[in-house]
Amino acid sequence: MTIHENKRLSDILFYHIGGNARYILEAKNRDDILKAFAFIKEHNIKKFLVVALGANLLMQDEDFLGAIVWINKPDVSEMHIASDGLVEVFAGEILDDLTLFAFSNHLRGLESLGGLPSTIGGAIRGNAGAFGVEMKDILEKVEVLDLKDNQVKELTNEECQFSYRNSLFKHSNDLVILRGYFRLPSATDDEITKAREVYLGKIDFRNTNHPVEYPSCGSVFKNITEKEKVEKMLSVWPDMREQVEKKWHNKVSMGYAIKRLGFSGTQVGGAKITEISASAGDTVKITFKVRTAGVYYAGLLIQSPEFDSGDLDKGEEYVAEFTAEESHSIKSYWPSTKKLKATLNVNVQ
Ligand SMILES: Cc1cc2nc3c(=O)[nH]c(=O)nc-3n(C[C@H](O)[C@H](O)[C@H](O)COP(=O)(O)OP(=O)(O)OC[C@H]3O[C@@H](n4cnc5c(N)ncnc54)[C@H](O)[C@@H]3O)c2cc1C
Repeated sequence: MTIHENKRLSDILFYHIGGNARYILEAKNRDDILKAFAFIKEHNIKKFLVVALGANLLMQDEDFLGAIVWINKPDVSEMHIASDGLVEVFAGEILDDLTLFAFSNHLRGLESLGGLPSTIGGAIRGNAGAFGVEMKDILEKVEVLDLKDNQVKELTNEECQFSYRNSLFKHSNDLVILRGYFRLPSATDDEITKAREVYLGKIDFRNTNHPVEYPSCGSVFKNITEKEKVEKMLSVWPDMREQVEKKWHNKVSMGYAIKRLGFSGTQVGGAKITEISASAGDTVKITFKVRTAGVYYAGLLIQSPEFDSGDLDKGEEYVAEFTAEESHSIKSYWPSTKKLKATLNVNVQ
């Protein structure tokens, strides 16, 4: 376990927000998590919070005067298939890494979740899912630390009380997820090839539809599923019925509702999608860093009338420097398909 003192949460969390934390206890394996909670107990720290990738966390700018237990991706993965055929995964592993591990072991079942930014622990807690697959479909059991009695326990899938983006863990902050155990269907070479295509297609979909070059909240909003709420919305927007029945599987898409209510682009405080402004003749220098986790697995290609980055791999950095002459757009593409992912406007006055 690594102890960071007075470190900014915005440096470690997905949305790059959050103030200074008194302690950040970084846990890169199961034992580190146990050590972090022993530290909290030993130092009698009253206020603590578990964070992981931070893809579902809005932290305040104020200082956090307690301990953050940061469950982070390990340097070297210890994911493995146990003798009972279950894939045993530490809570801090990245969901996409589990999918790729499964493929290389002729296992499938996670491909629809391609590009969903999450650790395993975060995904289990929220019963994360996409395109009809969620954690509850593939998780057999979970190992947890129960802070009530400081005991490590196992919970079955049923005991986790999963429902739509919900679980026991959302109602009990005393349970810290240490490991997940997944039962995944085995697959032939052909099936794995198809599963890989689905996986890349889902990443492609996310990269095309989300402004992924920003710390975007993506699709963190829950769709409306309760029958009476759906009917209530239909009584106000009856023209939506065909989409509800044919496209959204009897739910209301929250993305659609947000747009129709006119909330798209709503800005609170300084949070907004930024554009670059420069004066004619200015030298503009932009450093692009291709993330190593989350939605950027296939790398990036960045182009503008001023420069062409060529194919950049994950983890790579590219510095673009040019003289601002007239307004133009910088576009990023997913290298394998050359599909447009995002546009960044440079406004030159
Ligand atoms: C671009 C984008 C797209 C998204 N698309 C989807 C989607 O399609 N489907 C979907 O379901 N979600 C989606 N989300 C939401 C997000 O990816 C999920 O909620 C994800 O599971 C969060 O995991 P995390 O590791 O980032 O958890 P964090 O955000 O770090 O934490 C979330 C919560 O889980 C708790 N937690 C984390 N780890 C543990 C642990 N080991 N034990 C106990 N509690 C823990 C934290 O205390 C916190 O309360 C999206 C988010 C973004 C930004």
